[in-house]
Formats: sequence, C-alpha cells, structure tokens
Amino acid sequence: MHFLRRFDPWKGKHCTCKPKYSLAPYTGCDHRCLYCYITTYIPNAFFCRAKSGFLKNLPNDLKNADSTIPISISNSSDPYPTIERSEELTRGTLKILNEYGFKTLLVTKSDILLRDLDILTQGNIAVTMTINTMDDTLASRMEPGAPPPTKRLSALEVLVSSAVPVMVRVDPIIPGLNEDVEPLLKEISDIGVKCITTSTYKARRDSLKRLTDEFPEIGEQLEKQYLSSGEFVNRSYYLAANERERIMKHVYDCSKKYGLGFNMCREGLAIQRTSSSCDGVHLLSRL
Ligand code: SF4
Repeated sequence: MHFLRRFDPWKGKHCTCKPKYSLAPYTGCDHRCLYCYITTYIPNAFFCRAKSGFLKNLPNDLKNADSTIPISISNSSDPYPTIERSEELTRGTLKILNEYGFKTLLVTKSDILLRDLDILTQGNIAVTMTINTMDDTLASRMEPGAPPPTKRLSALEVLVSSAVPVMVRVDPIIPGLNEDVEPLLKEISDIGVKCITTSTYKARRDSLKRLTDEFPEIGEQLEKQYLSSGEFVNRSYYLAANERERIMKHVYDCSKKYGLGFNMCREGLAIQRTSSSCDGVHLLSRL
C-alpha cells in the first residue's frame, strides 16, 4: 500500500508549488466546508475515516522516498479532523516523519494541533493555518465542522510564541462574502505571523450549489460571475481575471499595510509576490 504520492494538483497550469509529496492519514474531512472540492472525487467525502494500516506501512513508503523533498499533510483532508483526538494518526505520522528526517508542511483549520506542540517544536515542520474571516458566525456557515477562527487565531499565538514556523492561508475569498480581509490581516500581523498565501474561490458545480443554497442572497451573482463571466481552468470555474485581480490586489495592499509577505495560490496573476513560496516551504530553512 502506497500512501505517499507526488503532489500534483491536476497538473494545474497556475500552480507555483515546487516538487513535494502529498500525504493524508485520513480519507474525507468532517470540516464540511461548503466551498470544498474533494466532494468531486472522494465518495462520501464529508465522512472522515482513518486509512487502514497507515502508520504501519508509512515507514516502507519513506524508505523509498527522497528525503530532500518536503511532505505536505494534507491536501484532500484536514490532518486534524475530530477523530484525530482518539485515532492520533497525524500525531503518529509527525513522529515518524521526524524520525526519518523529512521536512513537513502541515496545513490545517484546527486548533487540535496544539496537542502536538511537543513534536511541532522538535521537527522541521512549518504550519499553515487556514483562516478566511474573523467572523465566527460567517465561518460557522461556510465551514460548519471546523473550529471557529477565534480558536485558530489563539492557536497561532501559541505557535508563534513557541517558535514554530507559521503562515496563514487566507483562502478561499468568495466574492460578496468574505472579501473584507483587512481586520483579519491586521490581527494576523499583530500575532506575529510574517506571511500569507491567498486565493479566490475556484468553483465546482457541487460546491457552488452548496454556497448558493446557504447564501441565497448572493447566489444569482455567484452563478453569473463563475458560470457566465468566468473562465474554466483545470476542472474549476474561475472568476474572470480582472475580478480576481481586483480581489487579490486588495489582499496585497492590506498585506503591505501590515507588513505581511504576500503570495497567491493558482491565480496566474502578475501581482508582486513578496513572500518566497506559496506553500510555506521557505519557512523550513531553519534546519
Ligand atoms: S478543511 Fe479542507 S478538505 Fe476539509 S472540508 Fe474544508 S476545504 Fe475540504
């Protein structure tokens, strides 16, 4: 059984990631974000289950892998779903990766990761926390199974004070819903985070339907912006380039104002990137 895969986001033409591996201890994700794309290729995607034999077989994968290439956890699920509290697959994974000397990119929306602070402070691990609004009520509608942004921000404070390398994914930005990111960026900067990566929402038919069902007041506008005026890129509906540029430029301006490095994920726009990587790999250079 091979759990370790080369990261390859559908050979995305706008992807700026350097080579890395992708590793996911769980199948599916119980954060149930309305905008999530995993529902297009994982059956019963919002029911999270542990992968059988994961920790037992992982060392075999690592023995055959290139340890100079970082491992990203996780790209099709959050590594800290609710069942991680009892299963501890991610905790076990981090221990094994540290033992084998791999560099690790950990991407999450959960404050459960603070349980693993003992490991996070020992290995070559960079944490990316995804937060796309300061508004807990809005987040509870967009990401009904995820911990609220206030908890994620508190977790960031602990990580920063513990010298764990961190960045924030301000992602996705959905037009008419969470475009006003300035208060969030100010808060992130005040906490001591140095850089962010951001992107606009890339729609799939099913995620767009979930969003328009939950937010009918912007439903018609979203459908127009994505399905009529947008572009189809690598299986997703993008906003038109001028609209993406307007939204990303606002994030860039706020980042500059609060001294945050700026990068984008799969936008293909000519806006200056002031942070060295989109996925936090530049934060791993401390070892
Ligand atoms: S945390 Fe990520 S993988 Fe999980 S539901 Fe949300 S967008 Fe999907």
